[in-house]
This record gives sequence, structure tokens and C-alpha cells, in this order.
Amino acid sequence: MPVNTEAYKTIKHSLEARHVTLVAVSKFKTPEDIMTLYELGQRDFGENFVQELLMKEAALPKDIRWHFIGHLQTNKVKYLAPFIHMIHGADSEKLLSEINKQGAKIDRTIRVLLQMFIADEATKFGFDADQVTDLPEPGNYPFILFEGMMGMASFTDDTKKVAAEFSGLRSAYKKFTAKYPGFNTLSMGMSGDYEIAVAAGTTMVRIGSLLFGSR
Ligand SMILES: *Cc1c(COP(=O)(O)O)cnc(C)c1O
Repeated sequence: MPVNTEAYKTIKHSLEARHVTLVAVSKFKTPEDIMTLYELGQRDFGENFVQELLMKEAALPKDIRWHFIGHLQTNKVKYLAPFIHMIHGADSEKLLSEINKQGAKIDRTIRVLLQMFIADEATKFGFDADQVTDLPEPGNYPFILFEGMMGMASFTDDTKKVAAEFSGLRSAYKKFTAKYPGFNTLSMGMSGDYEIAVAAGTTMVRIGSLLFGSR
């Protein structure tokens, strides 16, 4: 399926008007597909799998900002540490410790988003916004920049439910800016629900299939 450049332009334009950053999710798509959007000016791309990302990072222009949006295993952090622009799925203290350790080794501070659990599906990872005391202490992680929060809504047609989950995450994000003064990014919204996320005040969306076709 060809890249939908018309959809890209329309979505990009409407997001820009709302000051929302578009991360183009390119998992399972070819370097050529990525280059099609790169040539239209897109620089933020999201990937879910470490091996695939390493292959693409090596092959593609160095000014691409790579976002890791998948579930990251601690033993893979070292491969991403030198170049990753942002890790969206920081979902445990164990993973944060490893990111901090790998950052320290190469003297690079790494941007992360705390993944928050907002859906009612047991398979989704993340911190619980209600467990205030469980959120990591930024002072323990000198090589991490806590830039914000990321979340995924329930997979459902019930738009009211999705909207409620997104606004809950937005409230948590606002509430925790006192604890994390570097917060500037709220990553929520995908192809099926990004308009709801924009209405709920997101600052970053992660869109794949609307741009690249189904996987
Ligand atoms: C795949 C993926 C996306 C993009 O999904 P689409 O529905 O294709 O837009 C966004 N976020 C995460 C975490 C993903 O894994």
C-alpha cells in the first residue's frame, strides 16, 4: 500500500494549528516509505521494535528524531541510548534504572515519557496515575529527562470512555508538573482516536495506519 501523502498533509496541517507534534509511526514499513514523508518535511518517526529501529537508523538520514514507542526490554536499552530522541514507554523503575545507567556510561541524558496505565485492559503496561507515591523520584535518575507522560486508551468504539481516559491522563500530567518541572509532552492519540486526544489537550500524537496504510 502506498504512503498516503494527502492524508499526511491534511493531518499535519490540522495538528500544527493546534500546536500538536505528529510522530509518524513507521513500524513494519520500509525505509522508502519513511523517506516519502521525510521528503515532505516529517522528522519525528516512531518505532516499536529495537532490531527494526537499529536497521532503519543506520540506513536513514541522521536528522530524523526517533521515538521508541514500544515495550522496551531492559537488555535492549544499551542499543538505543546513543541516539534515541525519546523513549515513550518508560513503565517501571527497573527500566528507568537501566536507561539512567546506559545514559551515564556515555554521558548522554535521555528523554523519557512515563507510560501511564489508563485503559481497562490487563495487557497494557504503565504506572498508575492514582498511586501518587509510586511515581519515580526524578532526583534518582540524573541521566534522565522526564519530559512528560504517555498513555493508550482502551480499544473500544465508546468514544465517551476514550475521552474520559484521555482527560484523566491530561489531569495527571498537569498534576505532576510540580514533581517533574521538565514536563512539556503529553503523548496520547493514535489513528483511531487522535481527534479525541487533541480535543482532550494532547501535545503529541502517534499515528501509523492513517499515514502508511494498514500493517
Ligand atoms: C502502533 C502504535 C501506534 C500507531 O498505531 P495506529 O493505529 O497505526 O496509528 C501508536 N502508538 C503505539 C504505542 C503503537 O504501538
